[in-house]
Amino acid sequence: MNENIMDKIVSLSKRRGFVFQSSEIYGGLNGCWDYGPLGVELLNNIKQEWWRSMTYRDDVEGIDSSILMHPRVWEASGHVENFTDPMVDCRECKARFRADQIDESECGNKAFKGRKAEKCMQEGKFTEARNFNLMFKTFLGAVESHEAVVYLRPETAQGIFVNFNNVRECSRQKLPFGIAQIGKAFRNEINTKNFLFRTREFEQMEMQYFVIPGSDEEVYEYWKHERLKWWTELGIRKERLRLSPHPHNKLAHYARAAVDIEYEFPFGFGEIEGIHNRTDYDLSQHTKYSGKKLEYFDDSAKQRYIPYVIETSAGASRGFMAFLCNAYDEDEAPTAEGKTEKRTVLRFHPRLAPIKCAVFPLVNKDGLQEVARLITDDLKKTFNVFYDESGAVGRRYRRQDECGTPYCVTVDYDTLKDNTVTIRDRDSMKQERINKDLIRNYLVEKLY
Ligand code: ATP
Repeated sequence: MNENIMDKIVSLSKRRGFVFQSSEIYGGLNGCWDYGPLGVELLNNIKQEWWRSMTYRDDVEGIDSSILMHPRVWEASGHVENFTDPMVDCRECKARFRADQIDESECGNKAFKGRKAEKCMQEGKFTEARNFNLMFKTFLGAVESHEAVVYLRPETAQGIFVNFNNVRECSRQKLPFGIAQIGKAFRNEINTKNFLFRTREFEQMEMQYFVIPGSDEEVYEYWKHERLKWWTELGIRKERLRLSPHPHNKLAHYARAAVDIEYEFPFGFGEIEGIHNRTDYDLSQHTKYSGKKLEYFDDSAKQRYIPYVIETSAGASRGFMAFLCNAYDEDEAPTAEGKTEKRTVLRFHPRLAPIKCAVFPLVNKDGLQEVARLITDDLKKTFNVFYDESGAVGRRYRRQDECGTPYCVTVDYDTLKDNTVTIRDRDSMKQERINKDLIRNYLVEKLY
């Protein structure tokens, strides 16, 4: 049943232009996806909401660092040595698995559909596990030599740490303060799966909050709470979220505490954001490797120290998938003949909806199209608005429901007489009449 919903979401994503397979006409590229016209709007809206909530505050600054960085960055961060997953190969069907995920994997031979990979392992078909580094390598400049190796960043966080001094000096921030950025990250995942959940190219929304050592536990609790609130305020159902703290014996050696915010996807719970107490590990490592002090002088206490870091690390692409799954719904809608029909509706929070409002002329004559066009052009100065004059109005509603458009405006004969239009709510399907000059205010009120 749930897998069925996932199939429906994937197919709706393609049909309506949310997500396409990368390089589809060449058979696709595993672990890479393209965002279509509606998808890019949704993704941008998610990122914009995150940016607004994280950086439009006094104590957090935004940056946008480059994807390629000095290779020493990844030595200092520990990625060159430790950013690995254990990998095993099946000698028989040649499928490749993450050794720590065999219990949730299936045999790679399509003829044995449903066979557990664990069984193949017990039968001795797998090679010994060996570590595989997930960073993509490339070369800087024309010569493909060992010295020219650079990496596509596997996370955005390191771009923040290496800019700690720059941002602190130019912004004159005092502790505690944060630095945030949104950007692409790349991981050569052994197995990609579940649509956008585990991909090789994805976007992260990360914030590193620098604090006085000793205040880290309290700040960690604060951000845990803030980040949960962000997801639920944008419509993620509380009952589909859970916090999953990392047990102490599973923490990274530098971390004091870590918790995942998990969303219940149709295939089960999966992490959408991690909140970590990274201690002074990152700034200390970069101080050691670069020879440049990344520390803070506390004027009032006359003390110099390396700040601790509380990190909030969310996936924009995984978040996209969570918002999409969360919005997907099926219900019944009335038809013009007084019956009901099944409808598929994406109940996005209006601020995330790719199209904020659709405008329809009731019929394509007697000047109704011209009025509807004028309304559309005027609203387009502020919102992403869609004009549609094709097919019966009921059909047009159904199309917008599938796109998640929260409001539809219809221009009819009364509009010509008294300047009013109907505005229809996606979720309740109720309509009200308002003056056409008030549509902008109506939308602003609903959206913000
Ligand atoms: P996982 O255990 O699922 O591999 P992780 O613990 O390695 O994730 P982090 O390094 O904490 O993940 O990355 C922070 C966020 O980046 C994750 O919560 C997730 O939203 C996103 N993310 C990480 N890896 C991927 C990926 N391969 N595809 C899509 N999003 C990802």
